[in-house]
Amino acid sequence: MPSSYSTDIVIFGGGVAGLWLLNRLTAEGYQAILLERDRLGGGQSINSQGIIHGGLKFALHGAISGASRAIADMPRRWRDCIEGNGEIDLSACRMLSPHFLLWSGAGLGAGMKAFLGSKAIAGKTEPAAPDEIPAILRGRGAVYRLPDFVLDCSSLIEALSAPHRGRIHLIGLHESVDAAKRIEFRTTANSRELIVYTTDEPLTVKARRHIFCAGEGNERLIEQAGLLLPRCQTRPLKMVSVSGVSLPPMFMHVLGEGLSATPRLTITSHTDATGAPVWYLGGELAESGTRCADAAQIDAAKRQLADLFPEVCLNELRWRCLDINRAEPASPGSRRPDNAHISAEQDIIVAWPTKLTLAPALADLVMQSLRDDGITPGVGPNPDRTEGSALPPGSSASLENAPELLASGLPGPPPLARPFWN
Ligand SMILES: Cc1cc2nc3c(=O)[nH]c(=O)nc-3n(C[C@H](O)[C@H](O)[C@H](O)COP(=O)(O)OP(=O)(O)OC[C@H]3O[C@@H](n4cnc5c(N)ncnc54)[C@H](O)[C@@H]3O)c2cc1C
Repeated sequence: MPSSYSTDIVIFGGGVAGLWLLNRLTAEGYQAILLERDRLGGGQSINSQGIIHGGLKFALHGAISGASRAIADMPRRWRDCIEGNGEIDLSACRMLSPHFLLWSGAGLGAGMKAFLGSKAIAGKTEPAAPDEIPAILRGRGAVYRLPDFVLDCSSLIEALSAPHRGRIHLIGLHESVDAAKRIEFRTTANSRELIVYTTDEPLTVKARRHIFCAGEGNERLIEQAGLLLPRCQTRPLKMVSVSGVSLPPMFMHVLGEGLSATPRLTITSHTDATGAPVWYLGGELAESGTRCADAAQIDAAKRQLADLFPEVCLNELRWRCLDINRAEPASPGSRRPDNAHISAEQDIIVAWPTKLTLAPALADLVMQSLRDDGITPGVGPNPDRTEGSALPPGSSASLENAPELLASGLPGPPPLARPFWN
């Protein structure tokens, strides 16, 4: 078994950022592997609401923001990929809703009128067609259609990872190795080596660039690699899911009284493992409930839904909470960053997309940084380059199976994460 492995790029983290990047790099001819310490998608990505924003949400207070500008071109790029004509192939990813609604709640308030008339919005949204409006909203105020759409995140992670199983490896397998040591960066005279402890024999991985796409885990990686910057910020959310038989599908922001960039409630609809419909609730409810116990947050969600949808029976539904952090680069006042972010130092790039929507923009930044540094595909300095893919093409290894140790000495792929309501 070789104790040394060489490749152009090592990506850390198998969320949307790392997986999108793996697809872009391999499409452009780079030898790249991705190391994941847990389940694929199991950080923020599988728990996101899957909304590909067109930017209008970030103009909810009536002005064009940096975020709305940065995001403007993303829906087209995602759609191209889903239709099989884009920079990567997402034709296996399921779209849950081709549009997203904006509802004023109790009626067309003055705030909603001002918002719809504002420069940021004028001409970019239109009243929803009658067949796009869920029955329980009909005749109850204005409903507008945003150009956003919603993806099924499980099928997204599967579509991004399935073609690359042989390049995706579960690290941190070997129980005899102290968890803190399962990877280690060792700096030599002119390069940095990554030591992966997957067996009794540590494996040295040599790469021209190490790219940290580990979400909240970037902080620990930054420390392990001996970097001082960048700093990570986390913004907590307490999301609520509710599942049961009487819930109609709903993909919608409900505006609050005073317009802000955060809607009172954001609802997306999914199905659980039994096929029952699930409403996944975010927005202001999730931001303001982070200090609540689960029972109190569920009560708050019930009050909101009872107020908005008095006709929906809330009895005998199953309620769950998820405490989760959004992980981003630190910004003054812990503000929400507008765009995808990378920081490059020596042979390390630290990357956060900051939104699922911005995964293509993040990959652009990384590709540009590689080009700027003269890191082009296939001219790696390592004389002991072995095949970049540890699993032969066409291998039948399944992401659902327990990972085996592959011939390269790197473990096989981790399983896919499942949504928390399953
Ligand atoms: C509740 C919620 C809802 C959201 N909804 C939306 C939305 O509707 N639309 C939108 O655009 N954005 C949304 N976002 C933001 C979006 O989900 C994130 O910006 C995006 O998923 C981040 O992807 P990522 O790959 O950087 O991180 P993650 O998805 O967190 O993935 C990081 C991965 O790295 C792994 N990892 C950690 N440490 C290590 C290590 N040392 N070595 C190897 N691997 C490691 C983790 O296990 C994980 O798999 C939402 C976020 C949250 C929390």
